[in-house]
Amino acid sequence: MPKFTHQFDTNLYKGSITLNTDRFINNDWVSPIDGQRFEVINPSTGKGITEISVGTSKDVNVAVSAARKAFKTSWGLNVTSSFRANCLLKLADIMSQNVDAIAAIETLDVGTPFTMTRGYLIPEAVETLKYYAGLSGKTHGHTKETNPLKFGYTRREPYGVVAAITPWNTPLRITISKITPALITGNTVVIKPSEFTPLSALLFASFIEEAGIPPGVINIVNGLGETVGNALSRHPDVNLISFTGSTRVGRLIIQASAESNMKKVFLELGGKNPSVIFADVEDDLEEVLAWSERGIFTLSGQMCSAGSRIFVQEQIYNKFVQRFTEIAEKRVVGDPFNAATVQGPAAYKAQRDRVMRYIDTGIQEGAKLVTGGKALGKDGYFIQPTIFTEVAPEMTLFRDESFGPIASIMKFKTEEEVIQLANDTSYGLVGALFTKDLNRAIRMSNAIEAGTVFVNCFNWMEISLPWTGYKQSGWGSEKGEEVLEYYMQVKAVHINLGLKVA
Ligand code: NAD
Repeated sequence: MPKFTHQFDTNLYKGSITLNTDRFINNDWVSPIDGQRFEVINPSTGKGITEISVGTSKDVNVAVSAARKAFKTSWGLNVTSSFRANCLLKLADIMSQNVDAIAAIETLDVGTPFTMTRGYLIPEAVETLKYYAGLSGKTHGHTKETNPLKFGYTRREPYGVVAAITPWNTPLRITISKITPALITGNTVVIKPSEFTPLSALLFASFIEEAGIPPGVINIVNGLGETVGNALSRHPDVNLISFTGSTRVGRLIIQASAESNMKKVFLELGGKNPSVIFADVEDDLEEVLAWSERGIFTLSGQMCSAGSRIFVQEQIYNKFVQRFTEIAEKRVVGDPFNAATVQGPAAYKAQRDRVMRYIDTGIQEGAKLVTGGKALGKDGYFIQPTIFTEVAPEMTLFRDESFGPIASIMKFKTEEEVIQLANDTSYGLVGALFTKDLNRAIRMSNAIEAGTVFVNCFNWMEISLPWTGYKQSGWGSEKGEEVLEYYMQVKAVHINLGLKVA
């Protein structure tokens, strides 16, 4: 079986981690049918970490049939909700015991600072498992007022096989947010991690059997989007796709569903998120600046919820730009295993190049580059925190999600004007606003066209609150109890208590 061992010898984490790099199907590691492999690159050095197995549609067929069989025999409605909950709790325990190792693998693969994978992202994945374990068995149908000669009720039933197709920015955290509600409601899953960051899912797979989860309930097939992702989206035995990624691929998945078995599709897509800062926060400007920094520069700007369009009211605009520039220039960009680092590299080379093209386009279209704008380092894919001003609505910087550490700061005068500007986007994922005026906060929260509005904070996530996209930012939801609805279908049962038709 192909395995690789990585020896970590950093100030923040020392240890040896061994991973199996094959497909994970039926709680077993199996080589892909066509035997292809793919190199995984460390974005901090540009050097190869290891090679992993790459599947094709043939491997997808094997994984989906394993998931289907498990759904019909050892999961689904064949086991109790407490059995399912206990499996997830056991998985959470094992992950808690291995949180350093998982965080280290994620940092190696994605370039996210270890302080963040260890301090927040992986612990959040563990909490997600526990949160949904706690909701197991708490879903229910209803009895209904009906014709007196009828007993009518509804049942909530799992769909069957769910395919989770995930992106590269916070790979394990997103994978766990998708599979936990799916599993707890009785579905089985096939996971297709991003080809750029597949390693944490493979380490996670090695805990599944120990957690007592029956074979076939969780399967993982690595591979390219156009092959493995596409095959899952078109597979007649996949009942639901839970996808997080770009709006472009979201459309392809909808199309694939329409052209195959019309499987349900839930999409968590991109964002071009506005942050609106009113002049009445001047006394607390340092706090607002810190939230704004978190809003755009966390994860090197590689967040669907990145606050890339910052609107600042004219009275405090100059002061804000000056201080935000100082803050951006002080950010420590570099080795993600260094405790002082707050910003790692872009997750892969093509992504770094894409962000650099957005910076060039911004300059060519006439926006003013205030700071940053350069790639850093010789080997890794680092980018300076970058700030533009004088960004107009017709510019690419205003419209496109760059998924990089690029902030556009714009000046506004009135509430009416900024509502129009904030909503002038095809996306609708997140909006943030900073004000001391309660009435305005409520008016603005209502007016912003987004699934999430942060008031006087930014990207302060909460597992219990639903995460949804308005407009072209998505269909369906993640997080919160609301999401359970999306993984169950409703059946109405009509029982005749005595109506005769003969
Ligand atoms: P992407 O759309 O390129 O890829 C996402 C996944 O889809 C990958 O696993 C990829 O292999 C797969 N894929 C590619 N082509 C496919 C196809 N034809 N059929 C099926 N699957 C296919 O996105 P990405 O670059 O990995 O991630 C960045 C995007 O994800 C950004 O737009 C970001 O905003 C979005 N995102 C959204 C959220 C959210 O919660 N809304 C969270 C994180 C990331």
